[in-house]
Amino acid sequence: VKCPSCNAEIADKAIVCYRCGAPTTATGAVRRKDAASGSRGRLIVLLVVLAGLVGLLLFTYLR
Ligand SMILES: [Zn+2]
Repeated sequence: VKCPSCNAEIADKAIVCYRCGAPTTATGAVRRKDAASGSRGRLIVLLVVLAGLVGLLLFTYLR
């Protein structure tokens, strides 16, 4: 593939360009995927916290 920044020919699996250090387009896609899974992880944490709060409320009311 060619570097989007300096047009140097770099390996397909290269994460950054060896010549100018610019990240390849594939890295951008991976980063977007990471961001998506990160927000999903935050949603799961939110659900767990909500479930814990509901459990705590039920525990408090049932006593
Ligand atoms: Zn480059």
